[in-house]
Amino acid sequence: MLVDSHCHLDFPDFADDLDGIVARAETAGIGRIVTISTRVRRLAGLIAIAERFPSVYCSVGTHPHHADEEDGIAAAELIELTRHPKVVALGEAGLDNFYDNGSPEAQERGFRAHIAAARATGLPLVIHTPRSRG
Ligand SMILES: [Zn+2]
Repeated sequence: MLVDSHCHLDFPDFADDLDGIVARAETAGIGRIVTISTRVRRLAGLIAIAERFPSVYCSVGTHPHHADEEDGIAAAELIELTRHPKVVALGEAGLDNFYDNGSPEAQERGFRAHIAAARATGLPLVIHTPRSRG
């Protein structure tokens, strides 16, 4: 079985064609799709998508570009949100100083909370890979 371990089905670009996107993925042999969270505060929308399609699961986390918006998210909150059966990972978190989105301090606090939650739950942590300056 093929797994798409990183997509963003909740992005507005896909809102008008979710049924088609998931159907085409399944026809292509993708048996599981993990749609990755970029904002904890938008998790309800992500869970709604995951509950709509049996093959779709999701993560919970704050993308480093949104670290200032969600500064102070605690590991305990992340852990609690992973209790939903469709939540199978933490993230997308990490450090990204290539763009000027998210202060380094807020990104680090967020990343540390995600690491702690991943360690406590045993769930995988989806780490954002920044562009290189080189
Ligand atoms: Zn992503």
